[in-house]
Amino acid sequence: MILPLDSSYEDGRRNRETPSGGSCSGEGSEPRICEQGPSRRQFIRLTAGGAVAGAIGAAGVQLGTSNAVLAQSKLSPDAALQELMEGNRRFSTNGATAHEKDLAILRKNTIEKQEPFAAVLSCADSRVPVELVFDQSIGQIFVTRIAGNMVTSEIIASLEYGAAVLGTKAILVMGHSNCGAVKATIQAKGVPGQISALYPHIQPAVDQAGPNLEAASKANAKIQAALLRQASTVIADLVKKSELRVVAAYYDIASGSVTLLN
Ligand SMILES: [Zn+2]
Repeated sequence: MILPLDSSYEDGRRNRETPSGGSCSGEGSEPRICEQGPSRRQFIRLTAGGAVAGAIGAAGVQLGTSNAVLAQSKLSPDAALQELMEGNRRFSTNGATAHEKDLAILRKNTIEKQEPFAAVLSCADSRVPVELVFDQSIGQIFVTRIAGNMVTSEIIASLEYGAAVLGTKAILVMGHSNCGAVKATIQAKGVPGQISALYPHIQPAVDQAGPNLEAASKANAKIQAALLRQASTVIADLVKKSELRVVAAYYDIASGSVTLLN
């Protein structure tokens, strides 16, 4: 599925980047970042005293938008999803920029507050590093991870906090290729310890999609997303008011691409 672009996307991005009408972000002695031109990634970094430390634009280092970190919850749900997908496109085409961001500034500006624009429920699999996959940095996405990307009470509580308190505008429930948890559920073999506690959560997807690993993994992401929409009154209410979107997705670890499933 291709996410439709809407006009609120650009509006949301402008809000995110220039919460004060294009002027600088940062208070008092905080490092300040200003938007220089029409490009969201062209910024001038000012020192604490306000002097220009250096022009940082298209030809130089592209700074992370620390102001974005503190205003990104103004994004619309569609814009938040689009931001994630754009980040994944950068990642999957070897054009990631998150590593170029000034982590010291992002850390400093998020000490007291976080406003992640989206949340992701992903598998614990080491091949699904969520911030990397979406080319995001400090303070930008609220991540919950558990083998099989399943919805539990604790996961619901975490995602409710992300949405209701922190203001995330989209929740991506993301399965992935070659998922060991789904594979184990399909095989239903004996496993040590409490690993089999994962099975009942994933079994409905196997029942629905059959023993094909990719089909079952995609079905599981869709089932968990639906469960999240239904099981949480907080999330259901935000979805009903069009203040939040909950979308299932599938990550192909070979290509690095994320596909939305519904
Ligand atoms: Zn997995």
